[in-house]
Amino acid sequence: MTFNNTASTVRFIGNRNLEEVIRKDAQELQKIGGSFDAIAQRMKYFQAVHFTSAGEKEYEAGLPIPEELFYSANGAGQSIYFSFPPKYKTEPGIIEGKYRVWNYAITNGLQDCPFLGCKTIGGLDVMVANLNNNRVLIINDITIHLVEQHSLLEKDNEYGISATEFYEQFM
Ligand SMILES: [Zn+2]
Repeated sequence: MTFNNTASTVRFIGNRNLEEVIRKDAQELQKIGGSFDAIAQRMKYFQAVHFTSAGEKEYEAGLPIPEELFYSANGAGQSIYFSFPPKYKTEPGIIEGKYRVWNYAITNGLQDCPFLGCKTIGGLDVMVANLNNNRVLIINDITIHLVEQHSLLEKDNEYGISATEFYEQFM
């Protein structure tokens, strides 16, 4: 299947080789005892904080995305780390004692799957922050689709992460 890395303006795997990216994550998963499917399910769990099959959930009051992070994350083109003020760890809205998830479906519009011939389109973004180590990951419908259907974890952009990192930081 032909892969169109530039179907997104931030690209999907930077300058990396597709087969190499998939092989390396698959090797890491074998070592960890993990799977692409488990990662996809976990991503869906975070996405479901804001979006369900019934649609977007009603806005719930809580701590907003810090403004600096909100504006720098979109199109960041690399992994995001952000130092959150201490109140982000203590105020209600924490998930599993260390995560916050925000609806980040803003201006980028719909995204096509980069594998030519695959007609999947996605548009919903959530931002997940691990407050223990300040790692911030944006998860899109297509991010999840790529993991679930194409065994591909994006790289070198704000959606990118390795299998090992995902297990360490978000499982
Ligand atoms: Zn696809």
